[in-house]
Amino acid sequence: MEKLVSVFDMKKFRKNQLEAITATLSGRDVLVLMPTGGGKSLCYQLPAICQTGKTRGVTVVLSPLLALMRDQEQSLLSKGIDVVNLSSDQSDEANSDAWKKVSSRKKPSIMYVTPEKLESSGRLRNALANLYEEGELARFVVDEAHVISSWGKSFRTAYASLGSLRRSYPDVPIMALTATANQKTRLDIMGKLGIRECEVLLQSFNRPNLHYSVRPKSRDVVHDIATYIKSRHARETGIIYCLSRNKCEEVAMELKEKYGLRARHYHAALDKADRQRVQKAWQDGEFEIIVATIAFGMGIDKRDAVRFVIHQTMSRSLDCYAQETGRAGRDGLPSDCVLFYSGQDVALIQQQIRNEDSLPREVAQLQIHELWQMADFCQNDVDCRRQELMAFFDQVFDPKDCHSSCDNCVQVKELKRENFTQQAQEVVRLLQLMLEQEKRVTQTLCIAVYRGSKIADVTKRGFDQLPLFGAGKALPANLIHRLFSHLYFKGVFIQEAVTIATWTNYYMQVSMRASSLSQS
Ligand code: ADP
Ligand code: MG
Ligand code: ZN
Repeated sequence: MEKLVSVFDMKKFRKNQLEAITATLSGRDVLVLMPTGGGKSLCYQLPAICQTGKTRGVTVVLSPLLALMRDQEQSLLSKGIDVVNLSSDQSDEANSDAWKKVSSRKKPSIMYVTPEKLESSGRLRNALANLYEEGELARFVVDEAHVISSWGKSFRTAYASLGSLRRSYPDVPIMALTATANQKTRLDIMGKLGIRECEVLLQSFNRPNLHYSVRPKSRDVVHDIATYIKSRHARETGIIYCLSRNKCEEVAMELKEKYGLRARHYHAALDKADRQRVQKAWQDGEFEIIVATIAFGMGIDKRDAVRFVIHQTMSRSLDCYAQETGRAGRDGLPSDCVLFYSGQDVALIQQQIRNEDSLPREVAQLQIHELWQMADFCQNDVDCRRQELMAFFDQVFDPKDCHSSCDNCVQVKELKRENFTQQAQEVVRLLQLMLEQEKRVTQTLCIAVYRGSKIADVTKRGFDQLPLFGAGKALPANLIHRLFSHLYFKGVFIQEAVTIATWTNYYMQVSMRASSLSQS
């Protein structure tokens, strides 16, 4: 505890941090599930510097992200903690200092390693075996452990080989950390790492300070983005995610030249020096808006004061969406997540997945399934976004607790207000009037009359002469649809199915309950 203050300069533990630290210090395996920004790193950095008795030795951290490893390395060194980094992109010679440290008497507290390095370097495996012999191997930490499951087969084959850790070093405790709480992934991680009996530390993934909304993506989405930023987040820091590198460059350029916003692109095709330059300039506040590909956002995790995350293109999965939006509001202050949705993007991403030749069929299928889940989330303009997102992570959330912090909850409120007043009564009255003239009225027809469209079906029956024709002109279409479904739901409207040959038509009726509505 005193190390928390003296070394890390933090005042108190966040949820589950102390539990995770205690578990690993007492030699148990532990799986930590915390949302992005929840503070997973501390769960292994603090135990790593507890060098007494049985907890002595090197904490070996396996992490897939070089950029993140570097950040952490720097920050730990600045706190006076002895760290070495053996990453796969450096030759053994370049790492010679690091190697010296590993074999010297005074061992480092933390050793960062990529799974690729562990797989390819015999020297590293020997070093680990030596540490083990000397009783200097404190624990293994697998950060971003979901990679073993969802990406293992495609991008990071090396993660799959981490299963050997438990076999080679049966009594060295393992800590796995991820921001993916989904139960399937969780079981997969535990199985692959051989830690089925581990302690699982799970917490709510709700991020109360994030406001979620989905908007239709228009032809000129950059204009919409620029307008949104200027009106809601002028001069504030944010991330915009696009599908391709070209798109990133295009969008950043347009925001800059046409709308005068300080934006720059950031993606995997930039060379390392450029990326570092862009990242640094962003962090130093030289510009506010970073336009990045969804595949390459993890390196920019560090920033604390991101006020908005905009998806110019939807994410590939709800998992990615949660991670990407999770980069906003890490300081706990209100932040916005706006996604611009288009069905074309679904088709585009699906094509992209199919085109990845290296992807085994079943992985591609799984990814497409996840894409459809994501699309479903976007198209859903009824249910609380938070509830949907949490349900994906197998967590229950009561929409009452959303407090209008997602677009769908804001809308329901509007609907409720209008429901029992004028609009609902209008619609019911209108349908009654229509039914006096025609035996069969479809919902489509009723909505058309309510909105005042002069289509042939309306005019030839003289519905445009009714007193309430066009009464709902000012209401948005989706609100009218919600209003109708609500009236069905309440049993005010009844649906009548009429089948002619193989074709079924649905017609509307007004139930007796409508009279109670007209009085309320
Ligand atoms: P994660 O890996 O879960 O995404 P990090 O470990 O990178 O999150 O931590 C996110 C931020 O929270 C960091 O800036 C870190 O310094 C800060 N943080 C973590 N734990 C605490 C704590 N107990 N008190 C204050 N700040 C903390
Ligand atoms: Mg992390
Ligand atoms: Zn909500």
